[in-house]
Amino acid sequence: MKRIIAVANQKGGVGKTTTNINLATCLAQAGKSVLVCDMDPQGNTTSGLGVDKHTLEKSIYTLLLGESYLEEVALKIEGIDGLFLLPANIDLAGAEIEMLDLASREFRLRDVLSHAKYLYDYILIDCPPSLNILTLNALCAADSVLVPIQCEYYALEGLTQLMHTINLVHGKLNPRLALEGVVFTMYDARTNLSAQVVDEVKSHLADHTYQTIIPRNVRLSEAPSHGLPITLYAPQSKGAEAYEQLAREVMAKNFLADEPQKELL
Ligand code: ADP
Ligand code: MG
Repeated sequence: MKRIIAVANQKGGVGKTTTNINLATCLAQAGKSVLVCDMDPQGNTTSGLGVDKHTLEKSIYTLLLGESYLEEVALKIEGIDGLFLLPANIDLAGAEIEMLDLASREFRLRDVLSHAKYLYDYILIDCPPSLNILTLNALCAADSVLVPIQCEYYALEGLTQLMHTINLVHGKLNPRLALEGVVFTMYDARTNLSAQVVDEVKSHLADHTYQTIIPRNVRLSEAPSHGLPITLYAPQSKGAEAYEQLAREVMAKNFLADEPQKELL
């Protein structure tokens, strides 16, 4: 079954990009074909996968504006069979304004991916840290939303707003959209706080939390500066182990689901 998953949370620094890069890589290493869409003008997914964002001529920006074809933009990631990237850079920041003039501007990404979704087992979309038109495009293109939550103070701040947005998009723009699940990130087993955050979120969203918890792991924060996913940078690390387990959980869940999980919201 084909899945398009948007990794979203309007808070910055919660592990969206780290989850995107490493979940996508682990899915590809498990034999799936995977396309990663970088919808953040910061282009951290792009550089984190070893692609130089400063020299891009074609990117997700030119794709959204209808100036390129997907086949021209998609880059094969070296060293990871089956992994492809639609890269982004700061040009994408202009898209929000330039797209204002375009018809059905919230559906540009959906339309761009309309054929690609038959070519890949999974498409993962990295969202920017806001609920803007780029995030809206991601939510309109996706089957489900995966929400990374950092096990820190204020983790729940903004979660209600995000759920409200997801519900709104589900009701008005994309009836396929479901909540894929919450993933806890940067869990620190030494602090009570991490455990408290997990308990609190579970008390609200028990059925929608992944069992896999991503620990705070320094290797995960080092890997992007080498342009490598964790499984290539530090394959024996706790971080690599956690994202491999998350990929298995995502695959198992999607294997069990015969239908997009509409009722979940
Ligand atoms: P977002 O995309 O939500 O802004 P990032 O994935 O870029 O968040 O993560 C924010 C920062 O935290 C980055 O410097 C990243 O390397 C680091 N980071 C993310 N996950 C972990 C983790 N599990 N352990 C340690 N550092 C992490
Ligand atoms: Mg990011």
